Amino acid sequence: FLRIHDVPAWWASRTPDAVALLDAGKTLGYAQLQSAIDDARAALAGLGIARGHRVLLVAENSLGLVAFVFAASSLGASFVLVNARLSAEEIDAIAAHAQAQAEIYIDAGFKEGVIHALRRGAASLDCGLAGQVRANARAHAFEPTSEAGMEDVGALIYTSGTTGKPKGVMLTHTGLLFVATTLAAYRKMSPADRSYAVLPMSHTMGLTSVLLGTLVAGGSVLVSPRFEVEALVEAIETQGLSLFQGVQAMHSALLAHLRRRGHTLSRGRLRYIYAGGSPLDPTLKAEVEALFSLPLHNGYGMTENSPTICHSRFGEQRDDASVGPPIPGVAIRIVDAEGKDVAAGESGELWASGPGVMRGYFRDPDSTQAALCGEWLRTGDIARQDAEGNVFLVGRIKEIIIRSGFNVYPAEVEAALNAHPAVAQSAVVGREVERNEEVIAFVQRRPGHPLDDAMLQAFLKERISPYKRPSHIVYLDALPVMTSGKVQRAALKAMASTMLLHPETVP
Ligand code: ATP
Ligand code: MG
Repeated sequence: FLRIHDVPAWWASRTPDAVALLDAGKTLGYAQLQSAIDDARAALAGLGIARGHRVLLVAENSLGLVAFVFAASSLGASFVLVNARLSAEEIDAIAAHAQAQAEIYIDAGFKEGVIHALRRGAASLDCGLAGQVRANARAHAFEPTSEAGMEDVGALIYTSGTTGKPKGVMLTHTGLLFVATTLAAYRKMSPADRSYAVLPMSHTMGLTSVLLGTLVAGGSVLVSPRFEVEALVEAIETQGLSLFQGVQAMHSALLAHLRRRGHTLSRGRLRYIYAGGSPLDPTLKAEVEALFSLPLHNGYGMTENSPTICHSRFGEQRDDASVGPPIPGVAIRIVDAEGKDVAAGESGELWASGPGVMRGYFRDPDSTQAALCGEWLRTGDIARQDAEGNVFLVGRIKEIIIRSGFNVYPAEVEAALNAHPAVAQSAVVGREVERNEEVIAFVQRRPGHPLDDAMLQAFLKERISPYKRPSHIVYLDALPVMTSGKVQRAALKAMASTMLLHPETVP
């Protein structure tokens, strides 16, 4: 496969009747998927979309979104994926930055934000799938693009926005297909496999690892617009899922649900489970592994690397927090502040290189220059690698809290907090006070478990040194999360800093 759209086309010609996509109501074989792509392609071509253009797709996971992704690709355009569950302001900000020649709002239960954007003058566009794909498109006046090599960029994907404003990452067809085929080989994928697309396809994990990673092997994808634990249980027990790739919160919701119901899950055809995107809690990992009698695979990546950098060894069950070795084809270095390799086993910034590395950030040469160093991508993450090649993440450079001259990594404090049985989830941020930083912990309690500061501090005392312990613990009913399932650290940091000005606002 040279281009993304070659994937469905190849299987449509080989196994036209094999199931490619399913959702709650419909099943599409590869030939039907290809004809939906052709319809969407005709609709885009009718809007004047051609090579080098950008097509903004605002959607939740849906069959229509998949059709438009491949349609845009087949016209040589790059697709810009935006999660329809973002707020109207967030969607508008990305749309304004992406400067797409067409904006398509795919009808999959529009929420207010999208309707708001539509009212700005979008035209309605009906494009096949027997009325199943209804899209609303707004065409823009075309200006010729000036970005050199733009035609090789398949996708423009915005980062999660954990550390600031989301950045538009230009990813090539080669890079996306490299990660998809490498992961498919790693997971020993075949046409008999069925995965669950519940991670948003607007993020690289949902796009590359789940959607493309299954279709390259001729397998089928059960598409779900949002996470519902009952639907997951049904998919596993009756819809023949063989892979489930989620984030930690999904696994944790599944466990809680089964516990509440006193339900023992029948694993069905499930053979591979994965949780990625954030540090994996060892207690949760052990519980999930006991439930499924399967190892819970872990991985590490970032949008800028299409995204995968590391993945735990296939089938290997470990009880530490390693994200595994780099995947074949990805090289890593661990370097100090001067960019020199650190001694074996020491921590430093992780740099990655390989076909998945982005072309750059769209319309942001300064950030691009800061992130790319020759063929190397500077991840901004601190990691160490053991003698067997396993990588352990320590934290993000941007999140380090400097407390009286000592470095505090939020991930370490969070891991200690999460080890307490009454803590469901936690997030640690710094708050500036008089040229120093305080450690502030936000904690979501597990329902039905008593917990207070004294208990938690006594617990931490056994585990981490005094300067790492939080000065304040704030209890929240739920930590704010983004559409990717990640904690909104920026929001918590803002909350922590306003608490300084208004101590009485501490909940
Ligand atoms: P932004 O770049 O906009 O601040 P973001 O970095 O969260 O947001 P993503 O590209 O979705 O956006 O996430 C990549 C980051 O997620 C990595 O750089 C790393 O810090 C973190 N990450 C990914 N996988 C893991 C993992 N298994 N364990 C811990 N952290 C992880
Ligand atoms: Mg990032």
